[in-house]
Amino acid sequence: MIDSHAHLCSDELFPVLDEKLEAARLVGVRNFLTVSSNWDSVSKNVAIAEKYDNIVCSVGVHPLHAMEPYDVDELISLCTNEKVVAVGEVGLEYHYVDLMPKTEQLRCLQDMLSVAQKSGLPCILHARECCDDILGLLREYAIKHAVFHCYTDTLENAKRILDAGFFISFSGIITFKNAGALSEVVKYVPDDRFLVETDCPDLAPVPYRGKVNEPAYVSVVAEHVAALRNVSLKAVDEMTTRNFFSLFPKAAILMKKEISNA
Ligand SMILES: [Zn+2]
Ligand SMILES: [Zn+2]
Repeated sequence: MIDSHAHLCSDELFPVLDEKLEAARLVGVRNFLTVSSNWDSVSKNVAIAEKYDNIVCSVGVHPLHAMEPYDVDELISLCTNEKVVAVGEVGLEYHYVDLMPKTEQLRCLQDMLSVAQKSGLPCILHARECCDDILGLLREYAIKHAVFHCYTDTLENAKRILDAGFFISFSGIITFKNAGALSEVVKYVPDDRFLVETDCPDLAPVPYRGKVNEPAYVSVVAEHVAALRNVSLKAVDEMTTRNFFSLFPKAAILMKKEISNA
């Protein structure tokens, strides 16, 4: 199984990374994508990915960090590193416009989409209460390959995202008691567009809610998906692994061999 979205350079996880990777391995979670959110995390994640064979990374600036300094040319050049498989997480966070004005978020996203356009890498999108704006920009920048991570939006918007050809990824939020409407989206997304993630160290799934989240818990998310979709855990593992490699072809080149040897 793969955790498609983890923040392994976070203060909570990085100091105990070997221990947490071993805990994940013991429950069958063997590959990881460590996701950047600001300029500082970019170099940290590239270093982590270069150290471990079973970890790849993404580079990019999250909308809530839009006003911190970053270097677009340096990002484009980092995208040629073999362990950098995506641009992310980038996007729009309209639930917190009081923390970061829309104009700044939009400017930063346009920079990031130009990185994706120039590098040809897929995007990992953080998209909250912004479906019209983000779909419009993805069209404008001709972005064909992207995942809407930690999905919490409506079924109607999921249909628009799927119609545009993108993937949808679910986190531990689907295990929360108040996730009723989201369960319908989990059941709806077709087999070939579905990913699972932890978004650790945040958003630990039930029964770990409120604790520090870690990559091992993607298995809990997958179990919940299996129950909702009425399929086996193995089927969810196979489906999400296949989709991960289809969305992130650079990761497939590095990791497929290792998985078939496991
Ligand atoms: Zn996010
Ligand atoms: Zn994240």
